[in-house]
This record gives sequence, structure tokens and C-alpha cells, in this order.
Amino acid sequence: MADLDILGAKISDLDMVETVCALAAYIDVGRQQNSAEPLLTLNAEILYKAQDDPRLLDIINRAALVTPDGSGIVLAARELCGREIERVTGIDLMQELCRRAPSCGWSVYLLGAAPGVAEAAAHNLTEQYGVNVCGWHDGYFKADELAWVLGDINEKKPDILFVGLGAPKQEFWIDENRERLRVPLVIGVGGCFDVLSGNLKRAPLMFQRLGIEWLWRLLKEPWRIKRMMALPKFVLLVKREARRKRRLAAESVRQNVARKNPDESKKDAKKDAKKDKKLPQ
Ligand code: UDP
Repeated sequence: MADLDILGAKISDLDMVETVCALAAYIDVGRQQNSAEPLLTLNAEILYKAQDDPRLLDIINRAALVTPDGSGIVLAARELCGREIERVTGIDLMQELCRRAPSCGWSVYLLGAAPGVAEAAAHNLTEQYGVNVCGWHDGYFKADELAWVLGDINEKKPDILFVGLGAPKQEFWIDENRERLRVPLVIGVGGCFDVLSGNLKRAPLMFQRLGIEWLWRLLKEPWRIKRMMALPKFVLLVKREARRKRRLAAESVRQNVARKNPDESKKDAKKDAKKDKKLPQ
């Protein structure tokens, strides 16, 4: 496994199968050491936000694994690292882990969403995959109820805690509470419980395959427009960063040539400077 550096965030290049294998290993270790490893599913909106929020970027970089949840991250990996990576979304990963849970002996706990939603999602997951959902709680508890919620989670001893408080609230929550959680694996899954409970329809396959699930969400929930303005800004940022990287690479080639052939390199440098002036800044 090699983490990709995308705008200062380390993001996993593992596909779904490899991710599940890596997480199985984390669960084994966590069970023995009684420690909690956080896994984050990152989309372009949150990575864009993290550019102006050092604490959020630090949380992302301290996570055990950060999966590319969103076509914006896939595009950034292509533009900035020259790599084709697979999208590993929170909901696909959650379903895959629940599918494997019975044979691996994993139990899960769902924390988040409006009252009744996590419970409905728990019933559906048990019915569909036979997974042992050992507990659930909504995501609207007060600060003075936190100790009870943490106590309930630790008492039920899940192997995986899915946290669906929305991003970036869940990233902060996981970071603040990981030391108090006796759960091998804690995963931020955003609004997944709304879909898994049947309250919200996921984008049709065609939207998922084309990488435009964001458009479906926007059509269904137009109030997201303000948050989604981060997407074109993210793409512009990636394009600018890719151009900067190309310039640096060209400059380093030029310096190598200059060392070997000083006259020829001066001509090339002039040509490149002319080309650079023509490019939009
Ligand atoms: N939510 C929650 N507690 C809060 C705020 C939000 O449990 O204090 C839940 C909300 O009910 C929803 C999810 O977090 O289920 C946020 O979903 P959204 O799709 O907005 O999150 P994203 O997937 O974009 O991170």
C-alpha cells in the first residue's frame, strides 16, 4: 500500500477488496490491543475545507486509512499523482464490511442520524446480510449524554463502530473520542444510515458509474448547492496544482540538460517561457 499525497492529505490507493483486507487486519490488532483505529472516507468537499483548516487536515493525516470517497478525489489522483484509483465510498464499504461480518465474527454499532434512522438501518442490515448489529444510537445527543453513549458503545463491544454524523462533524467527533472508545475500528460514513434505512434513495447506478452522484444529491436536496460550490473550486485548485507540478518537473529536466549542454538549454528555456506566458494563470 502506498498513500497518495493529494493537496497535503494522505489518501489510500487501495481498491475495495484490498481495503477490506487491511481493515480486517486492523480489527485483529485492535481486538488484542484494545485500541481504536479511525478510518475516514474523504470527498472533495471535505478535502477542500481542510485546505483552510489545519486541524481537519491533521485529523485526516493521522487516520489509519483514508479512502477516496468521491470522483473529485479520483480526478485529483489522476491529475496530481498520475494514478488511476478506485472510488471506495462510505456506503459501499459499509455494505461490504456488513456482508463479510458474519463469516469473520464481527459485530457492528451504528451511531448517527435522526432518531429511529440508525435503528431502521440496523434492521435492514441484519435482514440483508445477517450481520450482528449489537447497538445503535441517534446522532442528536447532548453533550451531557456523551458519557452514556460512549459507555453504551464500549459495553456492547462492537468490532466496528460506524459514525454517521456528517462530515466534518464525525471526523472531529472520532478524533476527540477515539482514546475513550474500546472499538478496534471506527469509520466515518456521513449520511449512509439515511440510505440504508430506506429513508433516502441512493443515486441510480448510471449516476454512480459516471461519477456524478453529487448531481443526484443536488437534484434531490437542492439546499446542498452552497456546500457543493466547493466542488468546482476543488477542481480548479487541482488543475492549478497540477500545472505547478508540471512546471517544477520541466524546470528540473531543464536544469539537468543545462548541466550537460548549456547552449541548447538556454534556447529551450526561452521557448518554455513564451509558452508559459500564453497559459491562463
Ligand atoms: N447528523 C447527526 N447529528 C448531527 C448532524 C447530522 O447525526 O448533529 C446526521 C444527519 O442526520 C445525517 C448525517 O449526519 O444522517 C449527515 O448526512 P449528510 O448526507 O449531510 O453527510 P455527508 O454524507 O455529506 O457527510
